[in-house]
Amino acid sequence: MTNPIDDTNPDAETRFLVWGEQLEKYRALDEINYTTDIEEPFDVVALLPGADTGQLLAQLFQQGDLLSPIINFSDEAFDRADATGHSITAAEFQRCSDELAALSRSVASLPDYSTNADKAGLYALALAYTRHQRLEAQWLPSSPLMVGYSLLAGIADYPGQLEDLANNGLLNRSSFDKLHNCNHCGSSRLNVREECSACRSSNLNEQSLIHHYSCAYQAPEQEFLRNNKLNCPKCKKELRHYAVDYDKPGSVFLCGDCNHSSSAPLVGFVCTDCGNHTDGDAIGSRQWYHYELTPDGIVALQTGVLPYRGMQSAISTTIGAVSRRDFIKHLHAFERVASRYDRPLGIISVTLLNSEKLVQEVSNRQLSKTFALIGEIICQVLRTSDLITATPDAVFMLLPETAKEGIDIAINRISTAVKEKVSLEGANIDIAVDQYGLDDIEQLQEIIA
Ligand SMILES: [Zn+2]
Ligand SMILES: [Zn+2]
Ligand SMILES: [Zn+2]
Repeated sequence: MTNPIDDTNPDAETRFLVWGEQLEKYRALDEINYTTDIEEPFDVVALLPGADTGQLLAQLFQQGDLLSPIINFSDEAFDRADATGHSITAAEFQRCSDELAALSRSVASLPDYSTNADKAGLYALALAYTRHQRLEAQWLPSSPLMVGYSLLAGIADYPGQLEDLANNGLLNRSSFDKLHNCNHCGSSRLNVREECSACRSSNLNEQSLIHHYSCAYQAPEQEFLRNNKLNCPKCKKELRHYAVDYDKPGSVFLCGDCNHSSSAPLVGFVCTDCGNHTDGDAIGSRQWYHYELTPDGIVALQTGVLPYRGMQSAISTTIGAVSRRDFIKHLHAFERVASRYDRPLGIISVTLLNSEKLVQEVSNRQLSKTFALIGEIICQVLRTSDLITATPDAVFMLLPETAKEGIDIAINRISTAVKEKVSLEGANIDIAVDQYGLDDIEQLQEIIA
């Protein structure tokens, strides 16, 4: 019996997706197996002169073929290409596809991401993995962001994607550079200028200050200049010799628009994309990094699942957050005090009931944001004496010295806020808020541990 689909067959002919203009000109195409229809199956992309790479990448991303090896036969530089064809001949098509055989096998071994909610992040990881490269930040003046990653051509919102992956431990960062960005449109294509502190004009002239020894008058040089000679405007004497009659103790900046003079100009930014002006002390900035795959990143791209950090991530920065083991220890200590002295003790849980469904249907980014928001809501009802811990699906709060009315108010506030503020695109979040009494502590310990 023969295997109908044999990827390892070395004689299998490569099928090219040929992308370019005036393809009828190229005789070599008669001798190769190719298609110009991106929706048909193909193994390798061949860019010919006139290829619109922007449109190509958008379509490859859309239909789940962004990892396809690309050969560049066009005259234009294209950094994302995996091989360069030096002439448009059948032999060169063959040579390049042989060169890319290992890459093709590596791509074929990965899961299909085409319908995955985290497609963009998974592609970023898989491009680095299959190309054995780190994601290298490069100057990209053609983009308002000014920085790009040639491997990630075709992936929108790459800064956000990469930071999410790094925050989840799937990529390691190393610093590239910090860029300022426009407060209005976010562009980093900014003109940095020295400006008049009174009117913000950049029409500044730096002038030497002149100090006349004999009368102690001090002013910008311009005030002393008369017919190419220096005359003191105060005492009317001529200044002849530097260091004898006068000296120059420093300089001032004179504004050509409003005549204001100052010893130090301000720094300001003008956006070359939208024209917006931002003062130097109010300008935002963004740190850019190179990124390297981590072992966790490799597991994620090989399984096609980005790990989400669960409800633990909701409380990671909350005051009073403790490990589950410590929480149980405190739980028993407070339980003893509460029963011996008949003191009130509140225990509340916030449980995510449909986490499995959410992980499948909602992107990692959206989930992370949702957990952060739930964390904020919980924080608002906590006092500094309260303790909190979390399992992947639930958050538990211990509120000592809190009577029933206080607990009811807290539960009500959390339920209402989650209903009003937490919403997800295309999925419903199902949350239960429960309270426990002293009799439930044994059972609670089992859930938490
Ligand atoms: Zn702008
Ligand atoms: Zn001015
Ligand atoms: Zn003078």
